[in-house]
Amino acid sequence: MGRYTGAVCRLCRREKEKLYLKGDRCYSDKCAVVRHAYPPGEHGQARQKFSEYGQQLREKQKARRIYGVMEKQFRRYFKEADRRKGVTGEVLLQLLESRLDNVVFRLGLARSRNEARQLINHGHFEVNGRKVDIPSFLVKPGDLVAVRNNRKNKAVFKEIAETGEQQGTLDWLEIDHEKLLGRFLRIPQRDEIDVPLTEHLIVELYSR
Ligand code: SF4
Repeated sequence: MGRYTGAVCRLCRREKEKLYLKGDRCYSDKCAVVRHAYPPGEHGQARQKFSEYGQQLREKQKARRIYGVMEKQFRRYFKEADRRKGVTGEVLLQLLESRLDNVVFRLGLARSRNEARQLINHGHFEVNGRKVDIPSFLVKPGDLVAVRNNRKNKAVFKEIAETGEQQGTLDWLEIDHEKLLGRFLRIPQRDEIDVPLTEHLIVELYSR
C-alpha cells in the first residue's frame, strides 16, 4: 500500500490547522502551523475563497491526512460506510477509528498515527495473541491489542510505558500502560471522536 513520504508539517499548513501528525513536536512552539499560519508555496499567503466543491475536497483531504490513508483506500472506506447501516459520515469515521494504527495511537502505545504505522509494519504488535503487521487491520470490539512480548524491551516502548500514565484515557478503550496492552471495548460514537472534521462534506463530495 502506498504512503505519503513528503514533508509532514506541510500537510497541516495546507489545511491551516494542526492535524497532530508528529507527536510531541505538535504540542511545542516548533510546530510549523504556529510559526507559519498560512499554506505553503508561492501563493500560500494570498487570500483564498473556496467553492462548495473546494470545501468538500479540503475536508476529504484533511480526513485522509489525519488518518494517513491514500485516496484509493479512503474511497473504499467510504463505499463500505455507505453500504453499512447508520449515518454514512459517522460510520466512515468509525471505520477509520477502528484501524489498528489508530487504535495503537489512541491507546497511547505510539506518539502519532505515523509512528504507530511504522511500529506495526515492523511487527511489534499482536491482536488477540497473533502478530499483525498490517496498519489497516480493522480491530473489532473486544479485541486485545498488545506489544509483542519479545519487543517490550525496546527503548521506544520503555519510554511509552513510563509516560503513558500521564495521558488521558478514552471511554471506548481499556489501557494498561505498564503491560503495554489495551482492549478495544466498543466502536466510539461521533461525539467521542475528537477530530476536527465536518464529515457530511465528505459524503457530499463522494455523492456527486
Ligand atoms: Fe502538524 Fe505537528 Fe507539524 Fe504542527 S508539528 S505542523 S501539528 S505535524
